[in-house]
Amino acid sequence: MFKAILIEKGDDGQRVGIQTLDEAQLPEGDVTVKVECSTLNYKDGLAITGKGPVVKTFPMVPGIDFAGTVESSSSDNYKPGDAVLLNGWGVGEKHWGGLAEKARVDSRWLIPLPKAFNARQAMAIGTAGYTAMLSVMALEREGVTPDQGEVLVTGASGGVGSYAIALLARLGYHVVASTGRTQEADYLQGLGAREVIDRKTLSEPGKPLAKERWAGAIDSVGSHTLANVLAATKYDGTVAACGLAQGMDLPGTVAPFILRDVTLAGVDSVMKPTEARIEAWRRLGELMVPEQIDAITETIGLEAAIDKAGDLLAGKVRGRLVVEVG
Ligand code: NDP
Repeated sequence: MFKAILIEKGDDGQRVGIQTLDEAQLPEGDVTVKVECSTLNYKDGLAITGKGPVVKTFPMVPGIDFAGTVESSSSDNYKPGDAVLLNGWGVGEKHWGGLAEKARVDSRWLIPLPKAFNARQAMAIGTAGYTAMLSVMALEREGVTPDQGEVLVTGASGGVGSYAIALLARLGYHVVASTGRTQEADYLQGLGAREVIDRKTLSEPGKPLAKERWAGAIDSVGSHTLANVLAATKYDGTVAACGLAQGMDLPGTVAPFILRDVTLAGVDSVMKPTEARIEAWRRLGELMVPEQIDAITETIGLEAAIDKAGDLLAGKVRGRLVVEVG
């Protein structure tokens, strides 16, 4: 038997609670993992509150990330005792996820836990930090270098934003953080932001082109914010778009693309091939130091994860929430 957060759907809507489940109820998969830690991402907030159509089948154990130890395996790639990590692949959406003491998954979705991190640190980074790393790699791929000028991070106090600031600053970029929580300026500057701006300056409808400012940007917000960021991106600059905290729309024009050679680089962490995941986690191991991971992270238990889901969507959570499961 094992404990899990279970989301059920009835005629009266969605119900969420902690339940004790039988291992026989676990879905199909060739590896069973004893989960040590999971985490609460924006997507998990949507799943637990039912505020977004994240969960595709019910009942569902949420949790798009987990880190733990292999308990049993019929895969040649993993054996009992191996430390593993999982991010995405539709886990917690279509397949039972990590907010549980046990998970059974397809071994192709797992990667070995990077040597640089223990399970708690890996989940403190989680999908948010891994997505921030993929976004930084997208800027690098498009040739954005530290000498080109200011790089903007939107949704700065959130999970993706916090890691994007820390990673960019470590790589020597001049980072500007956009936040609705200007009272968090000390936190953001502690992560490496050189300047903090109010997100209101970006969130309202703007002009097709604005004064060129950003050599690059990492945007986890979308909507008018992304349109305004593109409009103020310098000639040949790149914006990595990975989120939709303000909205899924993109109410802009093609002007930045056809008049300033701006690149909009999409970032998806969920279906990213294994090789790129391993490379992103290798880079995270090089760049993130334990003290900084701790500064970004709060640790909670399974029960609290249900209560915190609403806070996360309301933008009241700073940085990352690790859920200690085991
Ligand atoms: P968080 O909730 O931790 O952070 C989101 C941040 O966005 C908030 O902290 C807030 O920052 C800002 N924000 C919230 N609401 C608004 C709003 N209405 N207008 C402008 N800014 C707002 O979430 P995550 O960091 O985990 O995820 C961020 C986004 O990235 C989400 O949309 C998520 O779905 C997406 N994502 C995408 C992935 C991918 O594979 N592409 C993977 C992971 C996440 P502040 O208070 O500083 O303004």
